[in-house]
This record gives sequence, C-alpha cells and structure tokens, in this order.
Amino acid sequence: MYFIFFTGTAGAGKTTMVKEFQDYLLQLGLDTAVINLDPAVEQLPYAPDFDIRDYVDALEVMEKYNLGPNSSLIASIDLVLTKAAEIKKDIDNIEANYVLVDTPGQVELFAYRDTGRIISSLISGENKAVNVFLMDSFLAKEARSYVSLLLLSSAIKFRLNLPQIDALSKIDLLNEKESAKISSWGEGEELIDELGVVDDYSFELVRTIVENLDNPPIPVSATKNIGFDELYAIIQRILAGGEDYL
Ligand code: GDP
Ligand code: MG
Repeated sequence: MYFIFFTGTAGAGKTTMVKEFQDYLLQLGLDTAVINLDPAVEQLPYAPDFDIRDYVDALEVMEKYNLGPNSSLIASIDLVLTKAAEIKKDIDNIEANYVLVDTPGQVELFAYRDTGRIISSLISGENKAVNVFLMDSFLAKEARSYVSLLLLSSAIKFRLNLPQIDALSKIDLLNEKESAKISSWGEGEELIDELGVVDDYSFELVRTIVENLDNPPIPVSATKNIGFDELYAIIQRILAGGEDYL
C-alpha cells in the first residue's frame, strides 16, 4: 500500500485533486482509497474511506474552547492525536494499492509545527509515502509569490520528511504566455531576472532554492485532468524506486 498526501495552502485545489486523481487511478484499474484529514471541510466531492470528522468537529472545538476558526483547526488536529489508537485501527482496515490523503490548508500544521509529521506518520505507518505540494498557479504567476510558495514547499518538506513533488495546480487558469513564463522559472535564471532588484540575502536565497530544485514544479489541472500522466509517472518512480526526491 502506498500513500499519496496532497498538501498546499487553503484553496490550492487539494480536495478537487484528490477526487480527480482517484478517478484517474481507478481508470487505470488501480485500487484506491481516500482519507480526509480536514476537520473543517463541509462538503466532499468524494466518498472518504476514513474521515477525520468522525473524530473531531472543528466547529464544536471552536465553541467549546472559544477559539477562532484557524486556531480551532490546529486544536482539532491536536485532539485527533489523542485518539491515535482508534484511528490507526480504522486505517489498518483500509485495503488499496494507493491511498490518497486530503489535508487541511492550515500551513501551521505542516510548516511550523510538528503535528503534520506526527499525523502523517500515524496515517501511513510503515508504508511508503510521498507528498504532493500544490502551488496555486493563480498565485504563483507573480514572481515573488512563486518564491514564497517554493519556500513554503521547502518548509513542509523539512517538516514531513517525505519525498516531495511540487505541482502547479489550476494551470488551466493561466494563458499560454503565463504558463510558459512560470515553466521557465522552474529552470532558474529567468526567475531571478523577473524578481528585479532584491537585497543580497534574498538573491542568494532564491538562487540556492532554484539551483536545488531537482525537478521544476509539474503543471496540473484537476478540473481539466492536465498533467496527470506526468504526475503519476513521478509518483510511481519515487514509490517504486525509493529514490530521494525534493
Ligand atoms: P483545497 O482548499 O486545497 O482543498 O481546494 P479545493 O479543492 O476545495 O478547491 C478550491 C477552489 O478551486 C474550488 O472552487 C475548486 O473548484 C477550484 N479548483 C480546484 N482545482 C481546480 C483546477 O484545476 N482548475 C480550476 N480552474 N479550479 C480549480
Ligand atoms: Mg480541501
């Protein structure tokens, strides 16, 4: 059994991607299951095989502890961890080749706190796993936002300690010129040119990040099913080959 996590900022397209990628894998004749880890989602386009909302209700947590929406989600995940044994049992009952994991958009969980790693290793256990980090193209078309998303991607990779693939989600929202420009950034130099004048620290930082990108982010669209073959090929290469990916 292989686990594929989908992470990214709120609205990056994780839930839609999980639904469409599951359909794609099913069409290839693969056995799949889906896990929802977002305690605050109201409606899901897929039928989850495990749903965190069966264990915590973000709204209830918000009222009970008098928290705002963002902190209630973070507290919800902490509460979930107190039910680790029950959750593990549920997950052990899942049988599939691929388990797709939909995650909440709160970056704190995966970038700044250890919770993301604890929960992801609770979920995947001894199985091989990969993390697909979705960078919203609509945001990423601006050079500075693109850099911020790469930094966030690095933070998440550092936290989760899983092989990671960056994908540019919602590529269908960009015209040809915009998507060609973003693609060229994945290769390096042009991104630095586009940023214009930056201080020395930022310049060095961006250069280091770009130089260390093993693979430029893969353009995908969940709604138009663009880039799925390429994404699947890389996922397979990582999961089957076990090579270390950025
Ligand atoms: P999440 O918060 O990361 O789970 O994002 P969702 O999957 O809920 O998507 C957020 C919004 O983006 C929804 O309105 C989706 O319909 C839209 N969306 C998701 N994927 C795509 C895509 O590939 N293309 C376009 N145009 N919209 C998308
Ligand atoms: Mg979602």
